Formats: sequence, structure tokens, C-alpha cells
Amino acid sequence: MGKHKKKKMNQEILVVEDETAIRSMINFSLSRAGFQVKEAKNVEQAKEQINNKSPDLVLIDWMLPDESGLELAKSIKQDEVTKGIGIIMLTAKAEERDKIAGFESGADDYVTKPFSQHELVARIKAVLRRTSYGEEEQLVSGPIVIDLKSYRILINDEEVHFGPTEFKLLKFFIMNEGRVYSRSQLLDRVWGRSVFVEERTVDVHIRRLRSILEKYDLNDAIKTVRGAGYRFDL
Ligand code: CA
Repeated sequence: MGKHKKKKMNQEILVVEDETAIRSMINFSLSRAGFQVKEAKNVEQAKEQINNKSPDLVLIDWMLPDESGLELAKSIKQDEVTKGIGIIMLTAKAEERDKIAGFESGADDYVTKPFSQHELVARIKAVLRRTSYGEEEQLVSGPIVIDLKSYRILINDEEVHFGPTEFKLLKFFIMNEGRVYSRSQLLDRVWGRSVFVEERTVDVHIRRLRSILEKYDLNDAIKTVRGAGYRFDL
């Protein structure tokens, strides 16, 4: 048997912690659990990382050298583009009122130091299940089924080939059905902020996506919202 490389969607976790030893330990156990791990040692670095590419979840230490981890959590949850990112606050504070402040900042969960690596991984998986489609195998909208395990798209049970960008676009639209996205938001979320692409590139790929969908009488699925952007609705 030849070597088999499994395609897997590794979910990305950003660990924001100023203590190197704890950061490395968390990185080690999360990597072992199959996550892609990025690190930041303060709020500034964390914001840079998030702007560059949205992770699926951010683990935030409460006490950070430049700003409070709570402020970082708030800013993530207040930004339209990043508010879907899961947040777990990490802290030595175990008092009830701190916990409340943590949740008010928009954190999805709260882990008190010292914690076991096993517990941390379990909590992360639970938050990811609530905040993303990461654990799901299929995304379904009307006659469209996206199989996330095999990266295949079926329409009316027939496999349809999409280019990589059209694939990502359609997946994004189905995950966010009914919401309007501007071209620049689509660039951020589908292409990633680190990539420089002109806004009209979005239109090109929308056109390609529409022309594929048209063959299945789904040409109306992607709506142009005047002055706002695009919305997927089936
Ligand atoms: Ca700290």
C-alpha cells in the first residue's frame, strides 16, 4: 500500500499568553490533539495575527503585559468580521465576579489555571462545536451538499466540480446563508486579509460560481444587494 495523505481541515487556535512555558505547553498539547496552533505573547501580536487570518478560536490569558485579555476578547466580539471566532479566557482568577466579567466580554468559556491539558482540549472542542461548523461533515442548503471530509460538492446527488476559490466562496455562503457581505468582507473572509486582491476579483468569482449554479437552476441563489454586496439565499 502506498502512502496515503489524508486531507484534513485543521482548525486553527491562537494562543495568547505572555508566559513562554505555559504557551509552549499549550501549543504542544493542542498540536498533538490535531489543531493548528499559532502563538502571540501580547494583545498587539494577537491583533496582528487575527487581522492576517482569522483563527477558529482564540485562547486568551486574562493578564497580558500590554492590555487586558478581556479587552482583546471584547474587540474580537465587537468586530463584525471576527465575532464568530470562539474565545476561551484563561486565568488564575477563580472568583465568581471575574467569571461574570469574562462572559460579559463575550468569551464563550472560561478555564481556570491550573488546568489539565485534557480539560483544555475538551473545552476547546465544545466551544468549536458551538461556534463553527468544524465538527460537521456536511453543509447542506437546498439541493447543495458540501462534503467537508472529501471536499466534494454534490448538487441533486451529482458531483459538481468547482474551482478552489468557488469552492471556498460557496462554502462560506452556505455557512452564512441569508447574510449580506460586501466585497471587502468577502475578500477578508474567503481570500484572507494577507492576500492582496482587487475587489473586482470577487465579482469574477461570483460570476463563475453563478454560471455553475445556473446549470442546476440555482442562478438566483446568489443575490446582488445594491450598494451592499452579495447574499446567498436558497
Ligand atoms: Ca499572563
